[in-house]
Order: sequence, then structure tokens, then C-alpha cells
Amino acid sequence: MSQNNNDPIKTICPYCGVGCGIGVATDDDSSEMHFRPWGDAPVNSGRICIKGGAATEVVNHEDRLTDPLIKENGGFKKVSWEKAYEYIISELERIHEEHGPDGMGFFGSSKTMNEENYLLQKLARRYGTNQVDNCTRMCHASTVWALRRSLGAGAMTNSMADLAEEADVLWIHGANPAEQHPIANSQYFRQAALDGATVIQVDPHANKTTRSFEIEDTDRHMHLQVEPGTDIALLNAVIKTILEHHEKNPEDNWIDEDFIEDRTEGFEDLKRTLADFDREAAAETCGIDLSDIEEAAEVYAQAGNAAIFTGMGMSQHTSGVDNVQNEINLALITGNIGRPGTGINPLRGQNNVQGTCDVGTMPNVLPGYQEVDDDEARESVESVWGFDIPPEPGLTNVEISHSIGDSVFGLYVMGENPLMSEPDSNAARQRFDEDLEFMVVQDIFMTETAELADVVLPATSWAERGGTVTNTDRRVQLMRPVEKVYDNTKHDLDILSEIGTRLFDDGFDFDGPEEVFEELREVCPIYHGMTYDTLSEEGLQWPCYEPGDEGDQYLYEKEFDTDNGKGYIEGVRHQPPAETPDKEYPLILTTARLEEHYNTGTMSRRSPTLNRQHPENFVDIHPKDAERYGIENGQTVQLRSRRGSIEVTAQVTDAIKEGVIWTTPHFAASSANRLTNDILDDRAKIPEYKAAAAEIDVDIDTSSSTETADD
Ligand code: SF4
Repeated sequence: MSQNNNDPIKTICPYCGVGCGIGVATDDDSSEMHFRPWGDAPVNSGRICIKGGAATEVVNHEDRLTDPLIKENGGFKKVSWEKAYEYIISELERIHEEHGPDGMGFFGSSKTMNEENYLLQKLARRYGTNQVDNCTRMCHASTVWALRRSLGAGAMTNSMADLAEEADVLWIHGANPAEQHPIANSQYFRQAALDGATVIQVDPHANKTTRSFEIEDTDRHMHLQVEPGTDIALLNAVIKTILEHHEKNPEDNWIDEDFIEDRTEGFEDLKRTLADFDREAAAETCGIDLSDIEEAAEVYAQAGNAAIFTGMGMSQHTSGVDNVQNEINLALITGNIGRPGTGINPLRGQNNVQGTCDVGTMPNVLPGYQEVDDDEARESVESVWGFDIPPEPGLTNVEISHSIGDSVFGLYVMGENPLMSEPDSNAARQRFDEDLEFMVVQDIFMTETAELADVVLPATSWAERGGTVTNTDRRVQLMRPVEKVYDNTKHDLDILSEIGTRLFDDGFDFDGPEEVFEELREVCPIYHGMTYDTLSEEGLQWPCYEPGDEGDQYLYEKEFDTDNGKGYIEGVRHQPPAETPDKEYPLILTTARLEEHYNTGTMSRRSPTLNRQHPENFVDIHPKDAERYGIENGQTVQLRSRRGSIEVTAQVTDAIKEGVIWTTPHFAASSANRLTNDILDDRAKIPEYKAAAAEIDVDIDTSSSTETADD
């Protein structure tokens, strides 16, 4: 797969789940990498956002890890790969002997390839544990859970292309694609709006997405500025409006009775749940006028094709599964699923978060979402792997973190930074620091998590490795490598292959990613029909069950992928966030990401172009709250929750609702995750990042509040 360095290689942007194709050229003299457009890339046709254009800036970065490191006397000492491997093997064997296989947890990475994640989860299962997970737990675990249970597949039902061409209404709920998925928003969703689609955005924050749809000479944009954590009440008010209208005016077909009859189950349960539902009380709970809710309901129900986009504003709640279920309810009762321009469409965060789940880097499923506690599925994978897989699902990543010192004593972390990404990160740091016996981290930079590791392994970056990634609309695409920049770094795949072979002799000796993909195809039915050759430059959208399958642009045309082929409707009731404002903490803190930064900032904060835009954290505060606290725009304030405090710059703006404050997780010393609540949704185990009770302190000493990427 290697190419002449003078020709740009065609690969995939390492940041978000849109999956834009980009070119990377290498400077002959300096080995510097440069971005080049890939004009006919299948997803983005050469367009690029600020992150994609700056992606190469981290590849040659001077902070790159270049040698294996072992912790010694509180610092790190450079060692040979041999020494690092020997230490890792001896510790993995010791933990297995002293604590059993569940004494270890394995964290895969949505920034790494399908092949690498496949090998990591295979390693964990060969070790004897299903305690392997990835950061989808922090972003869309609840979405995946609800979609799998009620429709069949934990992924976008449709594609960016068909949505742009066919959708008459875009219902964007708890997502900010203009910042998080910029090319999807500009190339597809905004184009749909320019072509006549109506946009209904539900978000407590007026953000770049709001502004991107303020199109001249149209009023086809509604922004429902909902109170954080009241999305079920809002959707129930919408559904009840539709039900009541249909009862009086069945000829308007706001409900698709044939679709409900033929293709769904559970409608009676939904009607029972909403029998005594009070729409006016719900509107008050949401902080939105009932007339606006009614208008949104009418627009959605009357659309020829209406598509729902769902983001982390929906998923990151203790009610995350029910939030998404209510979106599914709305789509199913109106028949808005199973054809172009419709469906439930989670906008996935990282460039390979979809693929990381697809290949089984989760504690409850094997590759292709085959349940680990399903005997038949397990046996079919075992017949290829040649060893027994533990039959009980393992702990999720936040549960693994919570169990450190009790039942978990070692961690293997590939390309993730849980000490920044976990909620209540101060408590997580304490557990990692005091109660872990052993941790190995493989990464490209010294992250906050790597600082606490016993062994740090220098991995190659996204541009230097080959393999496949799967974007938000299920498109599996090839990433093609340039030459390695630092001689003593290794590909994640090769590291895992070496450790697996040293531990178990066989089953891990692969000659490159294509060989791993060939094995993955054997155990992952939705990828079975793909090869590197057929992926070519266009990629393929799963499912591809058999060689020759061309993949599906949209799912469920004839039936759902559930046991009986029906879509599952279930009535759900409003559940307030676990923490609501009180006298001590009178505000609601909510969090989100910025266009120019990326999650824990490991790469984006080291990118000069990206960091220049937002070198430090800030908080949005409504003018009335600012007045009450006596806060001036630009003033440094302290935000405080029951779990910690951070200092940030106040940005006084009516973009946020009164009583709500909004900040970001990207900056180590002032990360929102020092404040967020680590309570989990019961079923999907996703933390409630989007709502915590908080307070602002104004009189603080700001003399030492500066921050660098290494903080
Ligand atoms: Fe990369 Fe996403 Fe931007 Fe595309 S939209 S260039 S995939 S960050």
C-alpha cells in the first residue's frame, strides 16, 4: 500500500467521524508532512474543515514519543523495546495469576484502525476477559443500545448523501454538526436547507449550527432552546401533539397507520404512557412555548421525508437510552424510516468510533455486534480464533475505572486518555495514581494518562499506519501510510501482535493490516463481503454480508434487523438529571466541544493552527446570570461542582439559556470533566456529562492560572 513519497497518499482525516478523504505529501528533504486536497474523495469531494487541513501538524511534532519508557524513581527512563516487552509480559502474567483475567481492563481507541482494535479485543479475550471497551461508552453508548434493541443495528440508518438529497425536514437534536462535523454540515445538511428543507434544532445553546441555518429570505429554521435534560418531555409533547391531531384529523396522515401496523410493535404502550400526559406542564419543564412545540410537531409530521440527527446532547444522560428511544418512537409512528431522507442518524464523534464498535471492542459484543453471551455466536467466533471466549459480558470502561483497586489492578490503554475524558476526572486520577498496580499506555504523545503509566510505548501516528476506518454513515475506508517519521516508534498493530505472540504463541502473528482484516472478515458478518481490493478508493457502507455486496446507503427498507423484523416502540417518561440545581449549586452546567479542538486535546492542542483559535477554556454565561453574580465579559471566574473546581474566562452571551452555564473538556487544568458527574445510564453505562449542578465563584486569586498543552 506504500506510495512514492513525492505523490500525496490518499488517506482519511484523523479527527471526526465524517470520514473526509485527504492527501498527505512528504517533503523529500525534511520528511515534513503536508496536507494536500483529495479532489474526488468519496465523502467530501476535496472539501475540508480547519481540523482536516491542520491534521498533519501533529505528525512531525517535537513532542512525539520516540522511545519506549519505563517508570523509575518517579520519572521515566528510555529503554529498549525488548526490555519494555519483557516487563509488560511479566506484569500481565502476574496480574493474571494473582487477580485472574478480570484483574485487567483493556481500552481500545476510536482514533486507531479497525484492525488494531480488532487485535486488542482479541488479545483481551485470549487473556480471558471481556473487559475491553472504547470511548463510544462516553459518547454514543446509549444511542447504540437503543438503536440495536429497537431497530437492529447500532449505527446511522441513512447516509449523508441521501439525507442531503431527499430530506424535507432535518430534526437536529443535541448535536452541533457545524462545529463537530463541519463538512457534513456544510456540504450536506446546509445544502439540504438551501434546497428547501426545514431545520428544527433542539439545543440549550445557540451555536454555530444555529447560525449556519439562518439563511437569508427563509424562515425554515426553528431553534427550540430546551432546558438540559428535558428532551423526553419535549419529544413526548411533540408525539402527543401528533397523536391528538391524528385522532381529530386522520385524513392528514400525521401518523402512518399502515407502517405502525405492518412494521412495528409497542404502539399501544406508547399511547398508554401518554394517556394522561400534560403537554403544557411538559412545555414548562422544557422552558419552551407550547406553540413552538406544536409547530415543530406539525412540520415533522407533515414532511414527505423527515430525518432525525441525534448527538451527545441526547446520549450523555442517565436517561440516554430513553432519550434516543423517544426519537425512534417519533420516527416509527410517522413512518419516517426505511427510505432515503429519513431515519435516526447519530453523528459519531471520532474518525473510527463506529468501526471500533463494529469490530467488537466492547465488553458485551464480539465483532459484528454478536452478543458475547449468545452461545452460537461465541462458538462461531471461537471456531476461527481457536480458544474459548468468556461467556459473561465484562465491565464497561467507566465501570473498569470505578473498580480500580477493588477488582481491577491493571490497565492496557491504546491511544486513549481516560484521565481527561472520564467524568469526575479528579477522582479518576486518584484511583489511577493510588490503586493501579500496573498500566501500559501506547500513544503518540505523553498524555495525562501516560504520565501515570508504568510503561509508555511510542506508537506511529495516523498518517504513518495503514488499515481501515469506518465513518459515521458506515463507510469502511482505507487509510494509506506514508513512511515512518521516527525510527524507534512502532505501529499499534505490530505492538499488539508482538505482545499477543509472546503471551500465547499463536493467533497474533500477522503480516500487516490486510492480513488482520482477512481474519476480521471471517468473524464479522457485516464486513464479510469486503476486501481491501473492493474497498478501493470509494469504500463500502456496511452491511456487506457476501463478496460482491455493494453495501447499503440506507437500512430497513423492508424490515428491521430485530428478531421478528419489527421496529420496537416503547413509551418513556421524563426523568430529571441525577443532579438538579439547589441552593448550594444553583446552576446547570452543560458541556460540549469546539470546532477547533478535539476531545482531550492530545492532538489539537499541539496543532498551532487549531490551538491559536482557542488557546484556553471559557464559559458561556447568560447576561442575567452575569448581572446577578456581578461578572464582566472576559473576567476570570471559578466554576465549582460537588467534584471540583476550574478557572475559566467568562463569556457573557445570550446564546445560552438563563440558569445554564456551558464549557468544554479540551483543556487539562480547566477541563469540564473535573466538574462532571460520573453517574451512569443504567443500561448503556454512559455518564451524564450534559447536566450537573454547579456554582460560580467570582472572588478568586487568578495570579497562577495559565495553561499549556502539557498541563
Ligand atoms: Fe476531518 Fe471531520 Fe473536518 Fe472532515 S469534517 S476534515 S473528517 S474533522
